[in-house]
Amino acid sequence: MNKPKRILIQMAMFDEARPLREIFNFTQEQFAHDSVLFDLYKTTVDQNILYLVIPKKCLRYDVSRVGSLMAALVAWAAIELLQPDLMINMGTAGGFQSKGAKIGDVYLADKATYHDREFHPIRDAFKKYSVGDYPVCFDEKWVTALALKKGIVSSGNRMLLIDADAKQMEKNQAVAKDMEAAAIAEVTELKNIPIIILKSITDLVDIKQSSHEQFDQNFHLAVEQLIKKAQGLILLLGK
Ligand code: SAH
Repeated sequence: MNKPKRILIQMAMFDEARPLREIFNFTQEQFAHDSVLFDLYKTTVDQNILYLVIPKKCLRYDVSRVGSLMAALVAWAAIELLQPDLMINMGTAGGFQSKGAKIGDVYLADKATYHDREFHPIRDAFKKYSVGDYPVCFDEKWVTALALKKGIVSSGNRMLLIDADAKQMEKNQAVAKDMEAAAIAEVTELKNIPIIILKSITDLVDIKQSSHEQFDQNFHLAVEQLIKKAQGLILLLGK
């Protein structure tokens, strides 16, 4: 029998994670030096130990702590605590109608980039550093088996699209726009841990209706699709 794998799933929002917690019977764990950073859940699936971490709610404003800063802090602290063999970042994202995306499509990332950073407009190394272009764990077999879409997931700290981000995403050849994936992939590269990124489309960024309105309308459908695919992926990883 293979040694059990320790799989760490990181999500940004409690509402995204709730169905996954229910399907896999995750139970909340207390841990030493209980962190102010994240809530921790644990379960086992096919010999593998699954951990789920979500940044603790921002109590001051009563919202999920979405975005790259908390994503990176939580990834770092959770990896130190749990020493996983594999990270999975799953969540919601914007898609592009012009690239064939539909609401509820689930993408497996084959790279993770940023689209809202600029450190030096000319120096090539800084241009590359700003995009990041982090390696992710990708397998064409998963795409086929789970009927996923695939491509580059690009991250930035803006929900609504501005021209500069749109241009950079075009350069990055992004197919999905989120706020956390690249930050987590930057940390997993530092920590030398493979990462799988799975994102479900809540909104199309290149149609008239604003992303936040679409997000609210489509959230449940997108999360339902995400969890179906996540369940399939976790079972495949258990084989
Ligand atoms: N309006 C939401 C806030 C969600 S912020 C609310 O009321 O709860 C957006 C979250 O969904 C982030 O975690 C981000 O990764 C993801 N997301 C979905 N669509 C996105 C888009 N078009 N652009 C950026 N992030 C998006």
